[in-house]
Amino acid sequence: MNQTSKIINQAKKEGRKALLEPEAKAICTEYGISTNKFKLAKNAKEAAKFADEIGYPIVLKIVSPDIIHKSDAGGVLVNLKTAEDVAAGYTKIIENAKNYKADAEIVGVLVLEMAPQGTEVIVGAVKDPQFGQTVMFGLGGIFVELLKDVNFRVAPITKADAKEMITQLKAFPLLNGYRGSKPADIDALATIIANVSKLVMDEPSIKELDLNPVMAYPKGAKTVDARIILE
Ligand code: ADP
Ligand code: MG
Repeated sequence: MNQTSKIINQAKKEGRKALLEPEAKAICTEYGISTNKFKLAKNAKEAAKFADEIGYPIVLKIVSPDIIHKSDAGGVLVNLKTAEDVAAGYTKIIENAKNYKADAEIVGVLVLEMAPQGTEVIVGAVKDPQFGQTVMFGLGGIFVELLKDVNFRVAPITKADAKEMITQLKAFPLLNGYRGSKPADIDALATIIANVSKLVMDEPSIKELDLNPVMAYPKGAKTVDARIILE
């Protein structure tokens, strides 16, 4: 059995529907979807040590099965530049989480390499009751929420299909070198979408998957946040 099936079986055994971010990212890694380096810290001192190993700037994130939207809970701190800031940030995040939900179970705090700013895109999947596993692609923020400029395809899809999902967006010019900015790596994005398609076909118990955001760069793309919900 591969790592992905093991993680999913373990969550089912524990009666958890939402995978933890480190679990979702381990699955991404097994499916060739690259993420920034991370380690799970259990106390402030350990967080500072991991930050020294990973290198600055650092991002900290709460890991809790009871907190799905981490920034809403004050559970994300970005651009921490020293070990002292990371240690203090650890304490702050735990405090914020407890204020948000007093009885939240806290697994620890994720210490992550900070991703440079790129164009933020979203890759997703949902299990449609009628069509089955369906993959989604769009640009981040207002493009998804306000303009609904997203494309869906029923899985499985090929990389060529994935490229069409990207190039057929209304906002595609923003990815393709709008006003002199460098074009994003469309091939890297299409690879992520095709790998998500493979993942949700291999694992039919995945009900929802959200890579939000994925940072798109002129060369490559990195998944900054990953959420997987099981049936
Ligand atoms: P959530 O969606 O649960 O609130 P995210 O993990 O998406 O939490 O973090 C919120 C925001 O923080 C992201 O949209 C992104 O802008 C920023 N962010 C998170 N992790 C990183 C990272 N490793 N590098 C750079 N920015 C990050
Ligand atoms: Mg997110």
